[in-house]
Amino acid sequence: MPRAVIGRLSLYLRELEAFERRGETTVSSSLLGSALGINDAQVRKDLACFGQFGRPGIGYRIAELIRALRQILGIDRDWPTAIIGVGNLGRALLRYRGFRNRGFHIVALFDNDPKKIGQTVGGLVVQPLERLGEVAEELGLRLAILTVPGEAAGRVAELAAGCGIRGLLNFAPVTLTVPEPLSVISVDLSIQLENLAYRVLHEPNGGEAITD
Ligand code: ATP
Repeated sequence: MPRAVIGRLSLYLRELEAFERRGETTVSSSLLGSALGINDAQVRKDLACFGQFGRPGIGYRIAELIRALRQILGIDRDWPTAIIGVGNLGRALLRYRGFRNRGFHIVALFDNDPKKIGQTVGGLVVQPLERLGEVAEELGLRLAILTVPGEAAGRVAELAAGCGIRGLLNFAPVTLTVPEPLSVISVDLSIQLENLAYRVLHEPNGGEAITD
């Protein structure tokens, strides 16, 4: 499935949840798309990849589509998640409440700094990275957030892959090449700001990019 489609599913879901909070029970593809700047044909095409959701003359039943999208995206369950690298960014992400709402529970912290190991941060004891495999098995960890410096990220990602971690959200400012079956999504905040600076300079009416 194209990754852009999966990205749009999350946007549809967020929008559908907003409609549901407003008490709506059905929504048309054009209304669902309009808030996101996506045309109705694209909405129908995206959703048709996963099943027959729309009803002619009715549109989409919001509760049903929310349930289906949560299942497709895998957020109909809890994901115990680790943070590797308990520096400033790791600690900030640990405090972010938006993950928990979506079923991502930070349940373990790892670092390699002897001064940090054993400290309690946000109710969790920072553990040495060598314990990752053991803890991953014990807690069923399959996801980790990587907030170590760039120079350590490659090594740590390989180690994580060998410990049963299957998905990494990488905040280190490097491009990681990792062994299968590890999936990596990188969030490079500086690059995002660079993109933004470019747009402000060259595309003053650029709007928001939805599809990438
Ligand atoms: P602080 O000043 O608290 O260390 P920071 O945000 O400046 O925070 P960074 O240098 O960005 O820290 O490192 C982020 C975290 O990653 C730190 O806690 C550091 O100890 C940890 N770290 C660095 N290398 C590794 C590694 N190989 N394995 C695990 N953790 C690591």
